[in-house]
Amino acid sequence: MIEVIFLGVSAAIPMRNGTNAAYLVRIGNERILIDCGPAILQQLDAVGISPAEITHVFFTHRHGDHTLGYPMLMLWYEIGADAGAQVPTLIASELTFDALDTLMGVTYGPMDGVTESAPRITVPQDRIGRTQIHPNIMLTTIPMAHSNFAPSLGLRIETRNQFGQHVVAFTGDTGPNENIILLGRDADLLVHEAGYSATLNPEYAQGVYGHSTAQIAGRNAQAAGAKRLALVHVDAMYEGQELTLIEEARREFGGEVCLPVAGLSITIGQPDAPASY
Ligand SMILES: [Zn+2]
Ligand SMILES: [Zn+2]
Repeated sequence: MIEVIFLGVSAAIPMRNGTNAAYLVRIGNERILIDCGPAILQQLDAVGISPAEITHVFFTHRHGDHTLGYPMLMLWYEIGADAGAQVPTLIASELTFDALDTLMGVTYGPMDGVTESAPRITVPQDRIGRTQIHPNIMLTTIPMAHSNFAPSLGLRIETRNQFGQHVVAFTGDTGPNENIILLGRDADLLVHEAGYSATLNPEYAQGVYGHSTAQIAGRNAQAAGAKRLALVHVDAMYEGQELTLIEEARREFGGEVCLPVAGLSITIGQPDAPASY
């Protein structure tokens, strides 16, 4: 079983009462946090999850709406955690790790504590990377097309046990590109950024500023053979018009489409299945 908790679905400038895009994936005893925007501690608290539960943090890219919460999260392990709390394993590209270290260096400086002890897995930015974090959990990182300054990686999470195989995939920030089909191939859930609407802004139909539309997300979900599609990282100017984006994607995709609110959880697989994880 995989549970995806949407901690926030907003773009860099969040909607009123919204927060930046971030997700927590639960698989057995593993808790994978995907991205770490400035309000991450409040986002976790809002869904009743302690940072102590997180086993891995994956950073898609170095833009601030995905990384500015990193020093605050690390500070929690330094001064907020009970003694012996496990520091999560950090997963990112080399460029993103450089940015994270700079952020830490200019905000809290050297801590000489648990932060430095966090295990790291550096994944490639220019090609597909595969990282097995558990005998039953494989992470595949795939380059997306977003920003020369902040190259982005999509994340595909595959689980396998005697109850079957499940896949969830996250595009992170990206404009249209062929790798998205690979990322979302036969996924039970494709979490696709839909920063813009081709219905409300036809001039953005081909994607804009390294971002996608709900129409592009729908087409990619259909081409990839995904079963469900979640639209995320939606620009604040569409607040109150979420249904238009959902309908835009539905015109392209035969599966289920949603635009989650913060706190929504989607479960994939049988709830009684994870005993072997
Ligand atoms: Zn972003
Ligand atoms: Zn970005």
